[in-house]
Amino acid sequence: TLFLDRIDSANPGLNAFITVDREGALAAARAADARIAAGTAGPLTGIPIAHKDVFCTEGVLTSCGSKMLANFVSPYDAHVVSLLKEAGTVMLGKTNMDEFAMGSSNENSHYGPARNPWDATRVPGGSSGGSAVAVAARLAPIATGTDTGGSVRQPAALTGVTGIKPTYGVCSRYGMVAYASSLDQAGAFGASAADCAALLTAMAGFDPRDSTSLERPREDYTRDLDHPLAGLRIGLPKEFFGPGMADDVRAAIEAVLAEYRKLGATTVDVSLPNARLAIPAYYVIAPAEASSNLSRFDGVRYGHRAAEYGDLADMYGKSRAQGFGAEVKRRILVGTYVLSHGYYDAYYLKAQKLRRLIAQDFQAAFARCDVIAGPTSPTTAWAIGEKSDDPVQMYLSDIYTIAVNLAGLPGLSHPAGFGAGGLPVGLQLIGDYFAEGRLLNAAHRYQ
Ligand code: GLN
Repeated sequence: TLFLDRIDSANPGLNAFITVDREGALAAARAADARIAAGTAGPLTGIPIAHKDVFCTEGVLTSCGSKMLANFVSPYDAHVVSLLKEAGTVMLGKTNMDEFAMGSSNENSHYGPARNPWDATRVPGGSSGGSAVAVAARLAPIATGTDTGGSVRQPAALTGVTGIKPTYGVCSRYGMVAYASSLDQAGAFGASAADCAALLTAMAGFDPRDSTSLERPREDYTRDLDHPLAGLRIGLPKEFFGPGMADDVRAAIEAVLAEYRKLGATTVDVSLPNARLAIPAYYVIAPAEASSNLSRFDGVRYGHRAAEYGDLADMYGKSRAQGFGAEVKRRILVGTYVLSHGYYDAYYLKAQKLRRLIAQDFQAAFARCDVIAGPTSPTTAWAIGEKSDDPVQMYLSDIYTIAVNLAGLPGLSHPAGFGAGGLPVGLQLIGDYFAEGRLLNAAHRYQ
């Protein structure tokens, strides 16, 4: 009950949880006790966890931060959730998020913004803001999230915790409410790289119900945590150290890189010439996929249905108009536009080509280094309301994270000291495909 009691006292101020499942948690804790007594416990048996509200959880509200799903109690568990249940984790509840994972500040939630525990007038980042806040405020030791364009790494950075997004296909997307399917990937939050490694080990694995899930042997990501860093080549892309970065973030990142050199790593300059095109490419591809994925919310089988309507088309129209928030509608409109006849070649196809170039840039860089490092976010946490009326400013806050999703690579953010006003800064480490273990090792040795 330690974490449940902490949630009771702190959550009203932080708004990290949409649902707290006290009864379910206590029952799961008793089952974990029984497993421990029987000697059949695994490494996560009895460990409390919070799940982002994008993951389907059997018998528990799965709202995805939306009014559209505010009445949706899932009849089944996401693959990630069932793996973590089998591992013996104890789910405390479901965390706040931007509606359908669209956002970088958690302000797009139907349930109101989650608040940054370092300064409650500031955003925690997004879209997995609630999970980041839960771990940062020690309302849960570990939490799940999803990262389509930075939604694990960026809130981890802004709240001073560690977050990892694995290679695309490592975790199953089954039961994860879809935003942009070719980019969506589950990820892990923890207070340390070691905690993230333990969590990722339990949640990764092949699942035939997701056609993009990769059929690979399961890995133990905790195995190489202590590996020495001597000889590690850290690539510094000049595009990530340009004028966009705030001075306090730059100073914190430089200090961490100096520490890495002391640990025996060397730094090399690399270039990702097409990285500047990541945001425009992403804001074509992600809305295109979202417009298709979100067509299932029609008010017929589940989700919000308007109370009054005329014919079927009117029911669809009114249900969707009432159920979706402004940012979600914006993305559906953009997505429908870029996929429409006559514009497909000009926008969608172009964006796919950029995506390929961006992935090739990373491969060229990894010929010269083992990991790539840079800031996770160009600034520290901003004030609630500061960017919420300006979508483009909001989109630019993901400038360092989005290219990683377009390339399908693993990325991690770990605490890198503090900027102005004592607000956390995150260092992003990017690895080649399946280099999760190396990223966690580099973060662990630094911490
Ligand atoms: N901020 C980005 C967006 O709004 C990324 C979100 C995410 O990774 N889910 O799309």
